[in-house]
Amino acid sequence: MDSQLNGGEVLDLDVAIIGSGFSGLYALHKLRNEMGLRVQTFENALGVGGTWYWNRYPGARSDTEVSAYCYSFDRDLFFDWTWSARYPRQAEILAYLNHVADKYDLKRSISFGTQVESSTFDESIDRWVLRTDKGQTVHAQFLVEGVGLLSSTHFPEFPGQSSFVGDIFHTARWPHEPVDFTGKRVGVIGTGSSGIQVISEIAAEAGRLTVFQRTPQYVVPSQNRPIDEQLLREIADDYDGYWHSVLHSVTAFGFTESSVPGESLTEEEREAVLEEAWNDGGGFQFMFKTFNDVGVSRVTNKSVTDFIKKKIHEIVKDPEVAARLTPDQLYARRPLCCDGYYEVYNQANVALIDAEATPIVEVTPHGIKTSDGTVHELDIIVFATGFDAVTGNYLKIDQIGRGGLHLKDKWGERPLTHLGLMVNGFPNMWTLYGPMGPFTNQPPLHEAQVNFAAAMIQFVLDNDAQTIEPRLEAETNWVSTCDDIANQTLFPETNSWINGSNIPGKPVTNFFYMGGSGAYMDLLAAAEESGFSDFHLGGARVSASV
Ligand SMILES: Cc1cc2nc3c(=O)[nH]c(=O)nc-3n(C[C@H](O)[C@H](O)[C@H](O)COP(=O)(O)OP(=O)(O)OC[C@H]3O[C@@H](n4cnc5c(N)ncnc54)[C@H](O)[C@@H]3O)c2cc1C
Repeated sequence: MDSQLNGGEVLDLDVAIIGSGFSGLYALHKLRNEMGLRVQTFENALGVGGTWYWNRYPGARSDTEVSAYCYSFDRDLFFDWTWSARYPRQAEILAYLNHVADKYDLKRSISFGTQVESSTFDESIDRWVLRTDKGQTVHAQFLVEGVGLLSSTHFPEFPGQSSFVGDIFHTARWPHEPVDFTGKRVGVIGTGSSGIQVISEIAAEAGRLTVFQRTPQYVVPSQNRPIDEQLLREIADDYDGYWHSVLHSVTAFGFTESSVPGESLTEEEREAVLEEAWNDGGGFQFMFKTFNDVGVSRVTNKSVTDFIKKKIHEIVKDPEVAARLTPDQLYARRPLCCDGYYEVYNQANVALIDAEATPIVEVTPHGIKTSDGTVHELDIIVFATGFDAVTGNYLKIDQIGRGGLHLKDKWGERPLTHLGLMVNGFPNMWTLYGPMGPFTNQPPLHEAQVNFAAAMIQFVLDNDAQTIEPRLEAETNWVSTCDDIANQTLFPETNSWINGSNIPGKPVTNFFYMGGSGAYMDLLAAAEESGFSDFHLGGARVSASV
């Protein structure tokens, strides 16, 4: 297939895929290699990897133990690859994804450096019509979007920013050449997941590091170390059982979640559990392996926040800095982990600015000015300001479904999907790990969703139909189920990308199914067993060739 097709000609496909991260790569393998469909992937990066292609900042690494942050579909692939640690660095994960792309010969079907700008469902031919920034027109019966939950960068522009004479970087658009921080005055804006990683890494190198923190974070250590050999032996002994247990847990993180309510224990007993979890490491482990009610019980949540607050004050020697680092919110965001984060603030070359009390007002040619009139002189500014998460990349594409319905209008007040995967009015289109999907470790769920989408495509083909689309009622019920579950948790009470509140003007709402991976897997299985009764098939109006 001609992946370099330019203006004029129409590329005719069974399936167009957008994105070649974890989800898009597996979709390409499944649909092209296993099902024999005519598939082409469009990827705006110049290589595969998605998240792991873009986020090359120092300190970037996974916070899922890698024994569950990888593909499961091929046992040989799993055991042929050796990871250096439980939480590997970006370069290692990117190398793994390149290895996958090479092993399954995927790159020949990927158009790199190609942005899909629009996708329109043409009802007269029952095909998606895609247009790319290379002037290509693509017709595809099925459209699989693996555009990334955390991929559309949030890159605020402060007054005067273009006048800055030093270098400005965003963590998620990091240059391919290493950046030399030695002896430099570096400012980092943001203390979310990327911020804490980049801060912990460059503090040792920078001459002076100034951290602009708007929202203090609860950070627990990762206690990074090699993967436990015993775990690898257990996985080898029962490979399918291991992955079944991953997918049928709550978080799909590869550990057994606690079944003990923190509320059933005394304060001392809770503290002992938390101390053990702190020493073992891992953010999701701290939230889900300790007790089963951290995200729902104020009593347990307070024990957790009290414990971490105490740790911050034990670690950070200057009580004023410790106080500035101490959150006053609930422990109800995506839990963070990083080794040595709070310790950084004991270094003489590190300063912490409370950017909530004294916000950044402008960028000057030589630094950042805060509202108290101070200019913090800098050579490099690192924006660790995160992402327009979940919906950002979907809405960057001008997507038009049946009857001229624009996705940006359909999702104007909030995103609407069925099972986080399909949208009423947008037939034959799948949103991998899209809005109102599960809140879990991602790769195992990517595989599950791709397998589900593949089964639906086969169902359409077997029924000699042209389209499949969720029923409006199913979509409405799904979204209200998601909201009901989220409202039983403490997550809606904090500000974070999880509910859209990190982006000015974005609707603040629930974006996830928080019922757990296992329950979600059961729902996918039930949907398939029912013959996809929540979806309706569209008739055979035209032949497959356009
Ligand atoms: C630093 C970092 C660490 C993370 N660690 C973890 C972790 O430990 N555990 C976990 O579960 N998750 C983690 N995540 C989330 C991570 O995004 C997912 O785990 C996973 O990599 C997402 O894969 P994906 O294929 O769905 O999307 P991505 O990897 O985001 O890939 C999407 C690709 O599609 C491209 N694209 C988007 N729109 C278009 C378009 N219109 N045209 C062409 N191309 C397009 C994007 O540029 C991107 O290359 C992390 C995220 C970050 C940023």
